[in-house]
Amino acid sequence: MLIDNLKQIDPKGSTIVCASKYVGSESIRKMYNLGIKNMGENRVQAFLKKYDDLTDLDITWHFIGHLQTNKVKDVINKIEYLHSLDSIKLANEIEKYANKEIKCFIEINSGEESKSGISYDEALNFFNELKKYDKIKVVGFMTMAPNTDDKDVIKGVFMRLKNFRDSIDSNLYLSMGMSNDYEIALECGATHIRLGSILWKGEY
Ligand SMILES: *Cc1c(COP(=O)(O)O)cnc(C)c1O
Repeated sequence: MLIDNLKQIDPKGSTIVCASKYVGSESIRKMYNLGIKNMGENRVQAFLKKYDDLTDLDITWHFIGHLQTNKVKDVINKIEYLHSLDSIKLANEIEKYANKEIKCFIEINSGEESKSGISYDEALNFFNELKKYDKIKVVGFMTMAPNTDDKDVIKGVFMRLKNFRDSIDSNLYLSMGMSNDYEIALECGATHIRLGSILWKGEY
């Protein structure tokens, strides 16, 4: 039961962004009715379908996956948060097509295995460059920990992002933590945890 899945999560005051990519519109509707209003999708076509199906609900849509520049115009005015801003090229497309301010997390690459995200070396410059963009409001940083059982490695990744955030502005948000590592992320100060499989157990 979705309600039992939800009950086992203690977000400790942080925002749960439900990764709804695993399920269809009617499952999302059920989750919404349990009080989860923030939904995160990572595929453009699937998102557009669910968006159309659920216009009667007051969902706050987050785009949490890599966003190709040629897809920006299709999604940008349907979302409130983008968790994966990682290039000037993408920022330029957002500036061109958004007709409102988009709240964006800069995605930082924390490991070799992931191709998405900007490196720490480039992140401060990127953050400063984005101040020129009227349609982009940088609200924080996002990262994904490597897929490992080593809690110290995961903690190191999340603490690095927290310390980097603190060096810029401790009021900025931290989007980090997924089903397997959200408790560590919360210990490290996550403000937004992106949860999928743990919430949808039994539903797909
Ligand atoms: C799918 C996804 C999640 C959630 O993953 P789970 O391990 O199922 O909780 C979080 N963030 C991103 C970017 C995702 O694509």
